[in-house]
Amino acid sequence: MINNRFQQIYIEDAVKDSPVVKRILSRIETDHPLQYISDLFSLIKELPPVYHPANRSKTLFLGKIRGTILKTCPGSHGHLCCNYHVINLYLGCPLDCSYCILQSYLNQPFTIINVDIENIFSQLTHINQQYPGKIYRIGTGEVGDSLVYDHLTDFSLDFVEYFGKHQDFIFEFKTKTNNVDNLLKLRSPGNIVIGFSVNPQDVIDHEEKLAATLKKRISAAARLVEKGYKIALHFDPLINISDFYRQYQLVIQEIFSKIQPQDIGWISLGTFRYPSELKNMIQYNYPESQILAGEFIECADKKFRYFKLIRLALYQQMIAMLHQVDPDFLIYLCMESPSVWQKTLGYLPYEEEKMDLIFQKALHKN
Ligand code: SF4
Repeated sequence: MINNRFQQIYIEDAVKDSPVVKRILSRIETDHPLQYISDLFSLIKELPPVYHPANRSKTLFLGKIRGTILKTCPGSHGHLCCNYHVINLYLGCPLDCSYCILQSYLNQPFTIINVDIENIFSQLTHINQQYPGKIYRIGTGEVGDSLVYDHLTDFSLDFVEYFGKHQDFIFEFKTKTNNVDNLLKLRSPGNIVIGFSVNPQDVIDHEEKLAATLKKRISAAARLVEKGYKIALHFDPLINISDFYRQYQLVIQEIFSKIQPQDIGWISLGTFRYPSELKNMIQYNYPESQILAGEFIECADKKFRYFKLIRLALYQQMIAMLHQVDPDFLIYLCMESPSVWQKTLGYLPYEEEKMDLIFQKALHKN
């Protein structure tokens, strides 16, 4: 479990009376008196920058959500996207993954929890009323783990309750934790998926140091299944380790010794990739990391990836291993080129609305 102590806590004036703020404050400790501020951006300019994610996690900012609530997943130029939408609830993450893209992406020197979830829900309801019947797949795990602070916020309880009443939305929590106690208090209303990112334990030990062990993630997933939740598996980032096939086969065997294929909503695959700024940050923040070992090539979206032949081989091995468990799994690739999709999965997800329907069907299969 992540430490509940922060060196400093800032609270935006606009949310200072929020019950969510009171709840969070009753569950955390701090080294210094609380500070109330009126303007997030002035605070960001005032404080010295931080570069290591662990330092960003020492300071907490509780504020209101800004800008468009429902954002399309950033995707990548020249690479195919699965039409996923994101809500930025937590900005920052204490799990300390060496490859975390947030190192090159976030510029605020603290972790942000956006507390005004009633505002999020009212905007989602508005979208739902504008486009009745249109399916949206939404998640919160894009700029921070979806569940890592759930024991402080209880947001998962609110999300399950809200989405239970709005079945046009499919909502996915994405996590590398086993912080599921709140979710286990409720039965799934049918449109909630808990996505676990998974890797061999050896990769977790070296590159995801504060995340839950593989066993704990799988055990959490098995308990969630008993409450009716569908599980998603994200083999992302897939790392080209020396005994790749055996290591990932062990992961798959371990998962399906506890979970049945019909409990899986979908599975994503994405080989390790990075923009050049992230390479510098990994070398600076995690000099002991092995993740940059190997050869990479710059792709159309300016991200570096393993050579295409290597990526194809990794995907084909994963797909073959997964198809041995169940040939009907819904598998998709994250940020990959059309030719890699075609050569591995044999189809292209060009029609976004059809993609959403495919995901919805996967959710309701038995
Ligand atoms: S769990 Fe995700 S968001 Fe958190 S540190 Fe790891 S990669 Fe980054």
